[in-house]
Amino acid sequence: MEPVSLSLGRFREPISWPAVGLDVAELRRGGWEPLPFTEFIVKIHSRCNLACDYCYIYEMADQSWRDQPKTMSRNVFDDACRMIGDHARIFALPAVDLVFHGGEPLMVGHRDLEYFARRARELLEPIVEVGLGMQTNGVLLDDEFLRICDQWNIQVGVSIDGDETGNDRHRRDRRGMGSYARVAEGLARLTTDEHRHLFSGLLCTIDVDNDPVQTYEALAKFAPPAVDFLLPHGNWTTPPPASGIHDGTTPHADWLIAVFDRWYNAPVSETNVRLFGDIIDLILGGEPTSETVGLGPIRLAVIETDGTLEQVDELKSTFAGATKLRTEGEGNPLDLALREPGMAARQIGADALSDTCLACPVRTVCGGGHYAHRYSEDNGFRNPSVYCADLLKLIQHIEVRVRADIELLSASGRDE
Ligand code: SF4
Repeated sequence: MEPVSLSLGRFREPISWPAVGLDVAELRRGGWEPLPFTEFIVKIHSRCNLACDYCYIYEMADQSWRDQPKTMSRNVFDDACRMIGDHARIFALPAVDLVFHGGEPLMVGHRDLEYFARRARELLEPIVEVGLGMQTNGVLLDDEFLRICDQWNIQVGVSIDGDETGNDRHRRDRRGMGSYARVAEGLARLTTDEHRHLFSGLLCTIDVDNDPVQTYEALAKFAPPAVDFLLPHGNWTTPPPASGIHDGTTPHADWLIAVFDRWYNAPVSETNVRLFGDIIDLILGGEPTSETVGLGPIRLAVIETDGTLEQVDELKSTFAGATKLRTEGEGNPLDLALREPGMAARQIGADALSDTCLACPVRTVCGGGHYAHRYSEDNGFRNPSVYCADLLKLIQHIEVRVRADIELLSASGRDE
């Protein structure tokens, strides 16, 4: 292995489960083995040209972005690829995904993006199959970026929160100007016949003040191959906006149910709404494709612009330092990170659930919800999701609809 100049993050003193109470060595003695990483979020730029007010990187508990270099250097990127390649070789991985992320990844400029994409393919493809992706706010998505994405086959996901009013409620720049018109221009370029094959989907953060059906239809207008609806990040210590935990309401379930019914009732399939598709698959005994629901193992690592290896960004919404990894000893940081309780907690399925979740009728579908939403400063991450009531209502609604259709199909089969 080439020398790796990457470092592991500063260790934050453990305070609660899983840092205290989850014994990874004991798990391994009992036969459990961690799964190697297969997806890498590579932060090639740490700043953003927008200032969305819900952003978990800039606006929530963890402010470590302030210490990061703005742009990942070419040396650090090469070392990151070598580290990933080494990990892939040791574990004989058939394929890995690298997602260019930020901040806003397009802020690196054309030449650096081209360098990163070319080097990822040069350094990794002799070892492992590589999928390249990018998550962007779309504002800077010009023809030259699209040419580079085309040349190096970078799949592009764009963040947008619905129509102009809905999007610009939160997704504004530092001058307070809404971003919708500029994002729509970028999407218009991406969705031409020439570039549509690069379009991987849209990512929309839910605001229950936006009309749900109007929001869905504004997204569907771009004919995205997939839509991800994200619940705003929050937890038991810092509840999300419009949380129903104090008054027993379920505003996010009600919002998502309206979207589900519009999507599910469409005469032809308009797009894959990943959350709904995952819930349906899980109801039918399948596997999830995201970390929002289900009990599937998380095999994702983040590489910051200075090369530091961290856990998923969403944990930054919980407490300062939550993404940091600790390890001692020589070796590939990715291999060493697999010993971390915080990583193991994301891979042990039902063993990471709270007693409440273990007794829940939808536990295999819900899986306790997103890990970051389970946090409480009193006892860590072994809690139901702060969206528990919303998730229960949404899943039960989808299950009733799907089982009714299966019953109908079976009945019509019996009648034929
Ligand atoms: S619905 Fe609530 S109790 Fe049930 S698994 Fe999800 S978070 Fe846990």
